[in-house]
Amino acid sequence: MLIETHAHLDSHKFKRDLDQVLQRAKEAGIEYIFNIGAGERSSQESAALAKQYSQIYATIGVHPHDANEVTGDTLRLFRELAKEEKVRAIGEIGLDYHYDFSPRDVQQRVFRAQLRLAHELKMPVVIHSREADKDTMEILRQEEVDKLGGIMHCFAGDVKMAEECLRLNLKLAFGGVITFDNARSTREVVKAIPLEHLLLETDCPYLTPVPHRGKRNEPAYLRLVAEKMAEIKGVELAEVARVTTKNAKAVYGIK
Ligand SMILES: [Zn+2]
Repeated sequence: MLIETHAHLDSHKFKRDLDQVLQRAKEAGIEYIFNIGAGERSSQESAALAKQYSQIYATIGVHPHDANEVTGDTLRLFRELAKEEKVRAIGEIGLDYHYDFSPRDVQQRVFRAQLRLAHELKMPVVIHSREADKDTMEILRQEEVDKLGGIMHCFAGDVKMAEECLRLNLKLAFGGVITFDNARSTREVVKAIPLEHLLLETDCPYLTPVPHRGKRNEPAYLRLVAEKMAEIKGVELAEVARVTTKNAKAVYGIK
């Protein structure tokens, strides 16, 4: 059994056939799916999906792209949603300097505000960092993320940064990217860091693994990521499944 630690099933791309997508995930051995909030509405939908489907859990947060939409009401809404039993983390939150859809100072302020909310609610965090690693790491250190724990989603840094993340009590999640030809440096990180610190994710509907690139991604394809991780580390698929499942349950607080 595998745990999908990062999906966006509230995306309009799943509106028409979500039940079939979930059926295929089940057949592929996906035990639980963590649906990630990426805005106010997405967080509400994420919590609703967790209520509706026994295998889905939710996180709530505002993605850095939409940081300029955050108000005091957003944080009040999240405090309410966090009371629900299957809402397990604050995320995805962080910095994205690739697109700069929100100004950088706003992204940083909103990132800090959501880290403080996670402290208040005693929840782990799911972090998104793109072309912003220096600032991301500085904010994570200053806001004492080590006391929260959490996940560096779609990890794309080097081994040195990976080790710094481990010191900050963060696990590293890898997805379809590790199956891409041009991802040699990311595979080096997978190889260097012990399995005890790694997680599996798809980030669906994005980042579809080989050989399905170009198509919509979905949780069933997590298996391809797990197989690739096993190949890189030279261990059995069953070992990757066992250890990453244990890691995911620990970080998200699942018994
Ligand atoms: Zn995501």
